[in-house]
Parts: sequence; C-alpha cells; structure tokens
Amino acid sequence: MACKKSHLRVQPKYIFVTGGVVSSLGKGIISASLACLLKARGYRVTIQKYDPYINIDPGTLNPYEHGECYVTADGRETDLDLGHYERFTNVRTTRANNVTTGRKYQNVIDKERRGDYLGKTVQIVPHITDEIKRNIKLLANTGNYDFIITEIGGTVGDIESLPFLEAVRQLRWELEENSICIHLTYVPFLHAAKELKTKPTQHSVKKLQELGIQPDILILRTEHDIPSSMRRKIAQFCNVAPDAVFQSIDLPSIYEVPVAMHSQHLDEVVLRKLDVTPEGEPHMAPWLAFLDKMHAASETVTIGLVGKYVELQDAYKSINEALFQAATYCDRKLDLRYIHSEKLNDANADEKLGDLDGVIIAPGFGNRGIDGKFAALKWCREHDVPTFGICLGMQCMVIEFARNVLGLHEANSTEMDPSTPANVIDLMEEQKSISNLGGTMRLGAYDCVLRPDSLAAKSYGREHVSERHRHRFEFNNDFRRQFEEAGMACVGENPDTKLVEVVELPGKRWFIGTQYHPEYSATVLSPHPLFLSFMKAAIDYGQAKNNENK
Ligand code: GLN
Repeated sequence: MACKKSHLRVQPKYIFVTGGVVSSLGKGIISASLACLLKARGYRVTIQKYDPYINIDPGTLNPYEHGECYVTADGRETDLDLGHYERFTNVRTTRANNVTTGRKYQNVIDKERRGDYLGKTVQIVPHITDEIKRNIKLLANTGNYDFIITEIGGTVGDIESLPFLEAVRQLRWELEENSICIHLTYVPFLHAAKELKTKPTQHSVKKLQELGIQPDILILRTEHDIPSSMRRKIAQFCNVAPDAVFQSIDLPSIYEVPVAMHSQHLDEVVLRKLDVTPEGEPHMAPWLAFLDKMHAASETVTIGLVGKYVELQDAYKSINEALFQAATYCDRKLDLRYIHSEKLNDANADEKLGDLDGVIIAPGFGNRGIDGKFAALKWCREHDVPTFGICLGMQCMVIEFARNVLGLHEANSTEMDPSTPANVIDLMEEQKSISNLGGTMRLGAYDCVLRPDSLAAKSYGREHVSERHRHRFEFNNDFRRQFEEAGMACVGENPDTKLVEVVELPGKRWFIGTQYHPEYSATVLSPHPLFLSFMKAAIDYGQAKNNENK
C-alpha cells in the first residue's frame, strides 16, 4: 500500500547507529536498510558516516585497507558505505555525508591558526566534539531531510571513536526525544557448546552506557536464529524494551535485509521511539519486484572482472553491485569471476577467458598487473567478447589498440612510462602543477556528450549524460584522428574541455570504455543503462556460443 508523502517538521529526527563486539557487522547495510524503509514510507532520509581514522578522506588508502573508494557526485572521495546508502535509497550523498577524524582535526587546527580560539586552550572536548556536532547538524540545516541517520564507524571501546561517541552523548541530551541510538552487536554461536552467547552483547552495551549512551534499539547480528526468550533476556540486561531487540541473521543477499528488518517491524519501532505515528505500510513494491526477479532467476550469466585486487571483494564493490543489479533485471544469476591481472598473459588468456560471456577491465592505479589487462583486452577484441573498460580499463583499451592495431608498439600512459614516445594516455594539463596526492584528482560528476549513432548513446537512450570521475590521466587528443581512422571511435567527450570520456569499437558486439565510473550511480531501483546494455550483450553472446556448441 502506498503511504502518504509526509514531510515531518522543521526539526528533523536523528538516528545514531553504533557498533559493538566486532567490526564488519554491516552497520552500513543496516543503516541503508532502515533508510530504504523510511524512504519507502515517504520520508526524506539521508545517511552520514563518521570514520575514526586520521586520513582526511579514504582517497589515499590502498583498497586492501578499506576496500573501494567511493566518489560522490560533488567530488568527495568517501567510504564505500556511501555506495550502499545510494544503492539502497536512490538518494545522492554529498561531501557532507562522510567525515573523518582527520578532517575534524584539520578544521579545528585551521581555526586555531586563524586565531578563532584566541586565548583558549584547544581541546578534544569541547572543540573537536563541537566540530563533530556542527557537522552532524549540517545536513539538518539544509531543511531537506526528515531523518538523518548517522553511522559511527569503528567499534564501541575503540580509543579512536571516543570523541564521536561523546558528541553523540551530548547531542542526545540536546535533541531530547528527537534522537535515538541503535546499537548493532554480534551474538556468536559456539559450536563446541552448540550455544548462542549473549555476554559479548551485554558487555558492549555496558561499555556504551559507561560512555553515557543508552541504546534504544539493539540489532543482533547472528548466523543462527536467536530464540525470543534469549532476546528478552538481552533486553532485560541492557535496559532496552523487549520489542526493541531485533536480529539480523545472515541472508543470501544484502538486498533482502530491508525486508527482513521490516518483517520484525524495525521501521515502526524506530518511528514510535521518535514520537512519529507509523501510518500504513512502506511502499516496497519496486524493491520486492527486484527481489522476485533475483529469486526467480535460474539461468546464469558469467562475467569476468580483470583486476589486481581480486583477493578482496570490497575493492570493486560498486562494480560488483552494478553487475548484480543488471544481471537481476535481465533475469539472470550473476556468476562473477575475478581474474587476477598479474596472472594473465597472452599464453593463458584462452584458458582463463574462454568461458566468459563478458569481461570487465577494472579501474586502478600503477603498473602492477597492467600487462594482464592488455592481454585480456587483446584476446577480447580479437574474439569479439562483450568488453567494458572502466577508467584505467578504458585507458588500457586505448593503449592496447595503439600497440596492436596502430602499430605504436611502445604506446603507453605516462602514468606507467613517463618517457613513452607514444603517450596516448597523458597527464591532464591541470594536473601538471599538482604535487599533493590527497583529493587532487579530477573528481565528481562532469558532463559528457555522446555521438547520437554510438552504442553508448543507444544504451543510455540519450546523448547528454553526467557521470562521476576519479582520475589524473586522459586520452591524448593529439592521437585522436589516428584512432578514429583505424576504427576506435571517441564517441563521448566533455563539452567544455573536449576530454575524451567514451571510446568504442563500432564493429564489435559490445566494446566500450568509459573514462568515468558509471558504477557509482547504479542503484537497485535505477540500474545503470550501460551495465544493462553490457549485460544484455553478454547474455546474447553466451547464447550464441551455446548454440554454436550444440
Ligand atoms: N590511474 C588512472 C588515472 O589516474 C585511472 C584511475 C582509475 O582507474 N580510477 O587516470
């Protein structure tokens, strides 16, 4: 049943989400699921994440540390949880949605140097905590939201998150009934004893209480069903109402979490605790239709992702999710195979790529594994396999084509070989004077105009698009004519700078490279048109291969 579109009031409601016992419990997914449910009830919701590390942003972090670096449309490099927020809510995040300890300290130290605190000793409390509180309220000041969900990264008990938790404690007093705290913990199952254990949860809540925060709602992550008697016991020991203890049991897909939470009435309990009367049911029909497709899919599409961080699922999170969404909308199960670019070469390409219906060449930085990407691209181009190059993947498409079709054997990007005689990919002009690495790439959404007859334009169904970027190097327009004449078409460009944004090989089934990252804007309810079109081509190719083999 559709619900009433209702904007709450001038004063938005705040939901703080903390985590205890262990990290990686999925606070981001829980926050995103709650936001998804509130949005489906017609409310305006946003989610912000506070990360307790000293880096100003995760842009300089190796993916092995924290997985993919997500990029907002307004050009901030952020934690990958913001990707979940967008995928679950279909609402864009901004630079205000991700804050780190480093950024808070930087702001306070800048103010100190300006003389803003003249005469005062600058301290964690109140100066850092005030800065955190100011930031938490920033999104509220826009007047755009009814609910602001604030996820505090890290685990309660960590030294790093103390200033954030102190800010939450103070805000809970100031905001009175307009805020709640949801605490997510872990209930382990001891195989030897065949028992679920609640003690870590009790201790974690005690820790939170010691810091002056009483959680209103507990969500228990578990691999096994937690009996209601045990939940009542946890409620009693933790000063939480019995109907406010929820379980979040492992599910086959993260996209099932909103439904699992709604079936336990999480959204209603949250609303009641915030003094809002829940009306009707959330409008989840499009989400449920997606889940129906996901459950009904029986045939498989096999996609290979060629990259160098293949040991780590989170390194290509947004690409994985964009592929999964596209496969689901095409009524297919996704069989995603990670192909280590360092282990790929011309001799084994046939064996490693032969079974695939489509290939993604991943984004990245630096030389490691680059030759494997060239080998994959040569093989895919020669065997006419649907191929999608993203950012560095697109740059590799250009280099491979230059080497093997244009005969420029030493062609390269100046990122990999600064003295290459054929710099088909080169540092962007505005990057040449930049020496700092943090936050200095071409970041965020820029316009791109597509050639009307291109496969890219047909895939999008339009010629003007805006997509997010994260790069320093670009296609060198000095070589453009040579590429065009030999059959690699530069079909998308930035209208202001003429920077090449999209290349394709028109003679092939599907061979497109984008300088931008379309994966960042793919959501469950708005799957990305390029991923959909790539997926359809991969399915058609898979079927054609099957028919040939019959
Ligand atoms: N390293 C390349 C550049 O900076 C590509 C970056 C990426 O793939 N995100 O241009």
